Amino acid sequence: MSNRLYFSPTLWGRLSLIALSVAVLAATTAPAAQDRGRGQQARPDDRRVRGVLGGLEMTAADTAIKEVVDRLDFDSYKEILLGLTEFGDREQGTERNARAIDWIEAQLQGWGYETGRIHYQFTPRGGGEAEPREEVYATKVGSEVPGEMYIIGAHMDGRGGGQAANDDGSGTALVMEIARALADVRTARSVRFALWNNEETGLNGARAYVEQRAALQGIEEPAGSGQYPEPTWLGMIQHDMMLWDHGNPVTYNQALDADVDIEFQLASEKADESAALALKLLNANRMFATDYPAVMSNAMSSTDSGPFQDLVAAVSLRENRRLYETGNRANPHWHQPTDLFVTFSDADFRLGFNAAQTTLGAVARLVEARVEGGR
Ligand SMILES: [Zn+2]
Repeated sequence: MSNRLYFSPTLWGRLSLIALSVAVLAATTAPAAQDRGRGQQARPDDRRVRGVLGGLEMTAADTAIKEVVDRLDFDSYKEILLGLTEFGDREQGTERNARAIDWIEAQLQGWGYETGRIHYQFTPRGGGEAEPREEVYATKVGSEVPGEMYIIGAHMDGRGGGQAANDDGSGTALVMEIARALADVRTARSVRFALWNNEETGLNGARAYVEQRAALQGIEEPAGSGQYPEPTWLGMIQHDMMLWDHGNPVTYNQALDADVDIEFQLASEKADESAALALKLLNANRMFATDYPAVMSNAMSSTDSGPFQDLVAAVSLRENRRLYETGNRANPHWHQPTDLFVTFSDADFRLGFNAAQTTLGAVARLVEARVEGGR
């Protein structure tokens, strides 16, 4: 996908119209609306968020993990997200969905990854003919224990007729940015980057993955080759809607107490293991995230980690808790045409970026990641 598409006149026309309506909407709700026109927003740092994070002495081992996390790049995260939004809402079954999968795969390959695709049949909820669908993943192969892995996921399909920028371009870009950051980093264990399709129709892509691949875990194929098409799952970390925590009732700016919500499901077979994984993410956030804190909750719901929760430690990261907040209208752009790149400010993008720092900080420790030439 060429960068030139960013300058397509029709797209610009559409974006300007929407930017205008956003500005008008904002003008009626907040005095800070003038800032939007200049693309200016208070940095989270300005709100002294940074003062409550960190504060922990780092050991040499912590510093080595920080070197890995520091490879994440805020502008790169935004650029990947902008690239995804070029395909519109990427609704499953559409040409824009298929082209987005090709684009995602090309980026992953461009960073040096071998990729694979899961093929499955999708039958719409109301019935009708089953149709073929697919989704893409890439794998960072561990140098010492290649037969074990963490799965880092997000759904690349969207809906709403806009750009599905937040739901779930924000999670997809997060997973891709972590893949980019890890491309030339050594890891003892493997990491798989999964970009699910058909989340919006009932988690069909993630379910298909579990159905097809759970039984293949840990099998060396061919025997003696040291290759594991499906390394044993150690944990699954899902990312869905990462940018927007404007409180509820909703305010114009990112809320002063905005945070990353880490959820697991208490009513699952692997609740204890999932809680332990969530705690590792919470601790990684305090140590390695730059702007926003994280909190834990135990009611994970309606996301692609669900199909994994009885088989392996499974958690999800979000801007808000799905049942208590998102489900109570905490995000007015959810599944709306206004879920556009231009709807969000840098303070919003930075919440997603902090979730990337959180996940990579935890996973880098778990897979023993080391920057080449580093400690
Ligand atoms: Zn979603």
